[in-house]
Amino acid sequence: MEQKGGVGGQWLYDPSTDAGNPLGVAGVHSSIYASLRINFPRITSGFSDFPFYPTINNGGGGDGRRYPGHGEILRYIRDFCDAFGLMDAVRLNTRVVHVSLAPRSDGDGDGSMRWTVRSCATAEQGEAEEATAEELFDAVVVAVGQFTQPRILSINGMDNCNESGKDLALEIGEVAMEVHISVRSMDDGAIGLGMRKAMSRHHNLHLHSQIDCLHEDGRVVFADGSGVVADAVIYCTGYDFSFPFLDTGGLVTVDDNHVGPLFEHTFPPALAPSLSFVGIPNKVVTPLFYEVQARWVAQVLSGRRSPPSPEEMTRSTEEYHRAREVAGVPKRRSHDIFDLEYCDEFGEKHCGFPRLEEWKKELLWSAFTRLRDNDRESFRDGDDYHDSELVRPGGLALAGMAHRRRR
Ligand SMILES: Cc1cc2nc3c(=O)[nH]c(=O)nc-3n(C[C@H](O)[C@H](O)[C@H](O)COP(=O)(O)OP(=O)(O)OC[C@H]3O[C@@H](n4cnc5c(N)ncnc54)[C@H](O)[C@@H]3O)c2cc1C
Repeated sequence: MEQKGGVGGQWLYDPSTDAGNPLGVAGVHSSIYASLRINFPRITSGFSDFPFYPTINNGGGGDGRRYPGHGEILRYIRDFCDAFGLMDAVRLNTRVVHVSLAPRSDGDGDGSMRWTVRSCATAEQGEAEEATAEELFDAVVVAVGQFTQPRILSINGMDNCNESGKDLALEIGEVAMEVHISVRSMDDGAIGLGMRKAMSRHHNLHLHSQIDCLHEDGRVVFADGSGVVADAVIYCTGYDFSFPFLDTGGLVTVDDNHVGPLFEHTFPPALAPSLSFVGIPNKVVTPLFYEVQARWVAQVLSGRRSPPSPEEMTRSTEEYHRAREVAGVPKRRSHDIFDLEYCDEFGEKHCGFPRLEEWKKELLWSAFTRLRDNDRESFRDGDDYHDSELVRPGGLALAGMAHRRRR
């Protein structure tokens, strides 16, 4: 069930994101902005069984660049759906408004759970929504993404500027007289070498410590006592998980962006396997990690694999989060998994998914270094790639193809 009129999720760019309610509560799902290009090369940004070749969609409009714009990802997702006949399984313009455990009936002798799902046909802008439908399902997979509910922090708790925030600051700097970037930590790890390189060329970009206070007349005071007068303040502080339709009777909660308890970020022990979540982990290789999660859920729901017992899932989940806590990972980063080894083990253990090829891992690391250290304004382009030898023969063909299309 998809509330929008098309697939693509975040990649279904909606221009009203840019012009609508600045806090993103105008009913626009996508947080993608007009100029957005991906952060990692296309060769690592596709599903395992459908290489992300440059699209030729209906004879025109493909974007063959190594780091294409958002329109190319949307075309890729649509092509993927067409290639596998997925649209037969998607109900468009259908918003899920309520999901709750159905009361057990006498016929539920097997002890399995059922879910009541209420949905409504999504209306065009300005029209009233149609009446809701209520259906009963054996299982619900929650896959609503995590980039819709903006994280509006109290200024003192401000987090570091995210990756898109850096891109936006540089872009806005081309038209604004001054851009002041405020970060919690001024060390290079937080702001990044690449951003410093780009900033050194632009005299209208200024870096500050975190904001101490915002005044109604536009004055912004930073922690070191300095200040500026700003016409606009943009929060680039991320998003919060939000499942407004989901009623689990308190068995799954969201606390400081920790969704839990979730065994391996996917199954709530008390409700598995009939309830699962796909797309919660952050800082993983996407969409590949979400594909692996989906494969695992599909294998479990079709009976080809059994999840561990609820007790074992609970024990393992508690152990995992305790270890993260001991390692000093803040709760709001509970689902950040910047660990290729964990991802490999996840796929291998839960659904027999092959480990990521070594050449792809090296490519990812080299792309990550590039994102962090190369000039922020040009890291996506340029002729200084040194990773050709990392790309397997099929990949080289892809690179060649991209080049030809561009010309
Ligand atoms: C600014 C920005 C930049 C990004 N850059 C990159 C990048 O460079 N590379 C990269 O790999 N990833 C990037 N991402 C992340 C990428 O967008 C996500 O990883 C991806 O979209 C996750 O897919 P998803 O299906 O889990 O969620 P989404 O894409 O958010 O899709 C969720 C879907 O659920 C639907 N939905 C939500 N609620 C309901 C409901 N109640 N009823 C029915 N349908 C509902 C939505 O309409 C949507 O179609 C970026 C994200 C943002 C916001």
